[in-house]
Amino acid sequence: MTITTLKYLIDLIAVLLLALGIKGLSKVRSAREANRLAAVAMALAVVGLLINSYGTSGISIFQDAWLWMVVGSVVGGALGIAIAKTVPMTAMPETVALFNGCGGMSSLLVALAYALFPDQISSAGDENINQVVRAGSIVISVFVGAITFTGSVIAMAKLQGWLSTPKWLQNKFRHFINIALAVSSLIGTIEFLTSDGSASGLWLLVSSASILGIGVTLSIGGADMPVVISLLNSYSGVAAAAAGFVVGSQLLIVAGAMVGAAGLILTQVMCKGMNRSLVAVLFGGAFGMSASSTSSGSGEYVNITSCSAEECALTLEAAERVVIVPGYGLAVAQAQHTLREVTKVLEAKGIEVNYAIHPVAGRMPGHMNVLLAEADVPYEQLKEMDSINPEFPATDVVLVLGANDVVNPQAKNDKTSPLYGMPVLDVQEARTVFVVKRGMNAGYSGIKNDLFELDNTSMVFGDAKKVLGDLLVELKELGVDLKG
Ligand code: NDP
Repeated sequence: MTITTLKYLIDLIAVLLLALGIKGLSKVRSAREANRLAAVAMALAVVGLLINSYGTSGISIFQDAWLWMVVGSVVGGALGIAIAKTVPMTAMPETVALFNGCGGMSSLLVALAYALFPDQISSAGDENINQVVRAGSIVISVFVGAITFTGSVIAMAKLQGWLSTPKWLQNKFRHFINIALAVSSLIGTIEFLTSDGSASGLWLLVSSASILGIGVTLSIGGADMPVVISLLNSYSGVAAAAAGFVVGSQLLIVAGAMVGAAGLILTQVMCKGMNRSLVAVLFGGAFGMSASSTSSGSGEYVNITSCSAEECALTLEAAERVVIVPGYGLAVAQAQHTLREVTKVLEAKGIEVNYAIHPVAGRMPGHMNVLLAEADVPYEQLKEMDSINPEFPATDVVLVLGANDVVNPQAKNDKTSPLYGMPVLDVQEARTVFVVKRGMNAGYSGIKNDLFELDNTSMVFGDAKKVLGDLLVELKELGVDLKG
């Protein structure tokens, strides 16, 4: 077996593992294992590259390419492990955005390096690539990679709360700027393709696309962010696949295509979850433009009823069916383990407990599933929005924990609301609703929540973890302990 055949074999195994990994990520139960498979696939990809590099050029481990690859893998791997170990669950969306950006930047750099120094870069599949395909791939990789990189950095900064949409970007004027940048990218592309690899055309493309990434993402605000993150994820895959065509790596082409397609499907799921069209997200930008741009912010509530943890415990204890609605505040409070203790106590008394999972609850797709899985909540109790909504009228108590936008009836009832059209959990249909949050602050979209003023709603003010801890004590005092 030649070195090149061995490399292709390793690539094939890596692709299979990656495909299995992506498939496994679709279920919470198999997600951890799937993530490991994908990590092994990536490690194999590096090994394949090292073997190929050694086999084709015969260089020693102490020379250029080997050293760069080994040092890059070790430093990148160590950074990845450090970030994965330290980043809190609440900062996951920002982290995902940052990783998308890194993917985009890598593809951009690979394509740029090839375009600027074609003689110094060669790889196993080089001879099979048509030059027109390569030039086209360089353009796609640079354009999409640059947009992904700067767009992701902006998305991260917005999610982190470091940036908000500037006022002047909230009017239609921004479309002209973005169109001008797109035209400028096109001019750079034409110059690059027609002048035998002109560096000036390439730099015009890089700079225009980079600013375009900022322009497009900066004007998208509020509740549309989940869609943007998954779209940028898809872009990073497209850029990687194009980079694969540039350097002749089948592995990169297949892996990039899988990420691109998976990201696109996720984007579609998120759009559906928020009842938004992708075009409206990218070009409308009106929905949740920024938390401050809406007139119905916090502080305008009348008829708010609040109660103590003790009263809440009494009602819970008398219920037959309870539905828990987790939201971003639960993640902030890291209250998932205390919640599990409370629900175990309720279940021990024979009370049926389910969890209503809204597709965009929290700050990233699947945020609540991951959070509850961490606390060993049985998967079969996690109910998607469509299956739990018809069950609310037959529910005795709904416990809303740090959720706000995803239970706002305005989304269904108020045509003037910026939330109008977003599918929400119909918790108001239940007999009694308890909302646990620290005060009357608005959620991510900055909208007032009509649920809080309804007659069957009571607020239980406090940090989610503290309130759940108090509930646990009260329920145990009421004799609702694990022995039933
Ligand atoms: P929201 O952001 O609407 O509301 C969270 C609520 O939690 C706040 O009103 C806050 O009120 C409360 N809260 C904060 N900290 C605590 C705490 N320690 N204890 C108790 N309560 C707390 O969250 P939802 O999950 O309902 O909605 C998600 C929103 O985020 C949607 O608008 C969605 O579009 C958006 N989004 C979703 C993403 C995704 O992919 N899932 C990504 C980005 C945004 P108070 O301060 O008064 O306590």
